Amino acid sequence: MSRLGVEKHNRKVQTDILVAGGGTAGFVAAIAAARNGAKVILVEKRDHLGGTHSGGMVMMIRSMRHMRAPRDAAEKKVMIAGYESAFDDQQVVYSIAQEYIDRMLETGSAWGMKGQATARQLFDPEIAKWMIERMVLEAGVDVWLYAQSTDVLMANHAVNGVVIENMLERVEITAKVTIDTTGDGEVCAAAGARFEKGDPETGFGQPLTLYFVIGGVNLEKTLDYIRENPGEFGADYVATLERLRSEGKPFTVLPFKARIREALANGDYPIPYGIEKVNPETLTYMARPMFRNGKFRYDLISHNMDMAYNVDATDRKQLTEATIAMRDVAVRMAAFYRKYVPGYEDSYLVHTAQAVGVRDSRRIVGDYTLTKEDVLSGRTFDDGIGRYGSVVDVHDKDGKQSLMLAEVGGGGWFHVPYRVLLPAGIKNLLVAGRCISADYIAQGCTRSQAACMMTGQAAGTAAALAIRRGVEPRAVNISELQKTLIAQNQLI
Ligand SMILES: Cc1cc2nc3c(=O)[nH]c(=O)nc-3n(C[C@H](O)[C@H](O)[C@H](O)COP(=O)(O)OP(=O)(O)OC[C@H]3O[C@@H](n4cnc5c(N)ncnc54)[C@H](O)[C@@H]3O)c2cc1C
Repeated sequence: MSRLGVEKHNRKVQTDILVAGGGTAGFVAAIAAARNGAKVILVEKRDHLGGTHSGGMVMMIRSMRHMRAPRDAAEKKVMIAGYESAFDDQQVVYSIAQEYIDRMLETGSAWGMKGQATARQLFDPEIAKWMIERMVLEAGVDVWLYAQSTDVLMANHAVNGVVIENMLERVEITAKVTIDTTGDGEVCAAAGARFEKGDPETGFGQPLTLYFVIGGVNLEKTLDYIRENPGEFGADYVATLERLRSEGKPFTVLPFKARIREALANGDYPIPYGIEKVNPETLTYMARPMFRNGKFRYDLISHNMDMAYNVDATDRKQLTEATIAMRDVAVRMAAFYRKYVPGYEDSYLVHTAQAVGVRDSRRIVGDYTLTKEDVLSGRTFDDGIGRYGSVVDVHDKDGKQSLMLAEVGGGGWFHVPYRVLLPAGIKNLLVAGRCISADYIAQGCTRSQAACMMTGQAAGTAAALAIRRGVEPRAVNISELQKTLIAQNQLI
């Protein structure tokens, strides 16, 4: 009996593969598993699929290509301005991620060219929700929204599914293989998997962000202001922005440092949660016109800034406090823009993201842990399930330094080994997305969306092969897994 005085509806359901978390990695895992012949249930606690990619409004997939890291501060500005239209470095992630982008391009919901991805592939996060629903349903996945997995079904160190529970129903979903794509490694943690969190030196992770969108902007006026103030922004950056604008390409607007200094002196600039002061020199802040129905919208600008520091995102109380503080920052940032930034005089806050942006939380300890050295040296592995070559991007933990961007060496990419998807000591369970087994710095690379999609695809495919062969995921034949992924247009 529930507290509502109603008999709780208890049900039992069976499936081959249960994917917990329908976000960036989860939707790809579910598609891959279903296309490889398995019966799949995808459970998602929110009202939409795509997770941080869509509801979090992180509207750039970084990166399906190798990405060169800037050599100095001036080059960093120029590169950040134009990553969204860069096709030059080698592309290393394809398959379902590329297919998804191509379909977004067909509907005017992504910028670029079919068959390829830009270094930071821009898309419309609202249409993303719809496109992901289409693709997942077409693959034959059974989608359960409003379904939070609250516990695991376990016996003898093996996960046999999850429990979905709300005030009215409790459903035991039994699965031959479970894939944890919750971002926070919720299922793994419930199953008793070992995990690490944050920087080993401080215990704290990267800052959180609540993306927000400002409407009613006259960006032409803002761009004129930037052009007239090369001293504030840097001449090379201003020239790059002008070129991208005249070519109709996407671009990123950097912080208005002089305006921020003025607002700080007047007490008009919001201080992020968890730090005491803002350093305009090291501020991580970016703004971009949104791309909707085939056009860049110069009146609709998406904003991304580091807003909350030293928060454990797996702690409900801490996350609640930080979320409330971040929304306050968003409202006050909109006011700052109206008062201080030319072109924003008549602007307004359209919305804050549906999902708070968490860069890192639990990192599940797997049969192998990917290291900073593996990533930076471009290491290859016999059990590689995909290539990855985007920059390592670790944001500052205390608001005092600039973000770290480091480049993958070797051939420009490293292998993600299959073992990082296998939580140590636990059977029938795979993990994909930002919570795979990686150290703090390596996670700064593998947390990017293209890597999450790639690990999601490998996990879904491995789970389906395990079922087909009647083995535990740990015993999947690596050569068969690699051949299957290659046949599905992934590079190994
Ligand atoms: C502010 C910010 C900016 C970023 N910028 C970029 C960028 O420019 N480019 C880039 O490529 N990457 C960027 N990243 C990184 C990247 O977006 C994320 O790391 C990635 O999207 C995470 O994917 P995921 O599948 O692991 O998690 P998510 O996409 O967050 O998906 C997890 C899903 O699981 C669901 N879920 C959680 N718990 C449960 C449960 N118990 N039961 C059921 N469902 C559950 C969630 O609701 C969610 O839908 C950024 C991240 C942040 C936070």
